[in-house]
Amino acid sequence: MGIEENIKKILKDIPEEVKVIAVSKTKPIEDMNKVYDLGLRDFGENKVQEFLYKFENFKKDVKWHLIGHLQTNKVKYIVGKVELIQSLDSIKLLKEIEKVYSNHNVIANTLLQINIGREQQKYGVLEEDIKSILEYVEKCNFVKIKGIMVIIPKGTEAENSLYFKKTHDIWSNLKFKKYKNVTMEILSMGMSNDYHEAIKNGSNMIRVGTGIFGKRN
Ligand SMILES: *Cc1c(COP(=O)(O)O)cnc(C)c1O
Repeated sequence: MGIEENIKKILKDIPEEVKVIAVSKTKPIEDMNKVYDLGLRDFGENKVQEFLYKFENFKKDVKWHLIGHLQTNKVKYIVGKVELIQSLDSIKLLKEIEKVYSNHNVIANTLLQINIGREQQKYGVLEEDIKSILEYVEKCNFVKIKGIMVIIPKGTEAENSLYFKKTHDIWSNLKFKKYKNVTMEILSMGMSNDYHEAIKNGSNMIRVGTGIFGKRN
């Protein structure tokens, strides 16, 4: 299937209020143009260097989402260029974002990335460490947390649903806690192979790469 059929199928499949992020990592600008022409306006990249290339060479009215681990020394390159840093995964990174964004007098909108499967090789905050990072954000002047992003472990449909449900529970509990600079508006969960279960479990933002662009090389 081509990009057009892929997008039409996804948009038909999901509720209107779920936002689709087109994950364009490794994909050429010409494919991104097709996606743009079909109406999508949110693009996700996981590497700063590739994001910067596309930011310079895909000059359209789109919103950029940084979805990969962000090294502290690269924060300075993305200030004012991304709509949402979806991968806030440590207090160290939070401190750096606060510092760099305050120097530029720009607000950083972020999602807290949670390592729900407690996988060693994955980035993200463990459940028991969420509170301390939220307490730190309360002291920030330039960082807002708008919700949660999660990448779940590989597993069966039933296992996926459990992780999505767990993440949704955390998200909805935090909705009722009144932390300064924290609003739980966005729940970014679900990718090409599991967005159905993610949406069934309350996701309102899905990040789709291969499901739109086809296989990555
Ligand atoms: C690559 C990537 C995606 C998209 O994955 P697909 O399986 O190709 O849809 C989503 N989220 C993150 C964080 C990614 O790195």
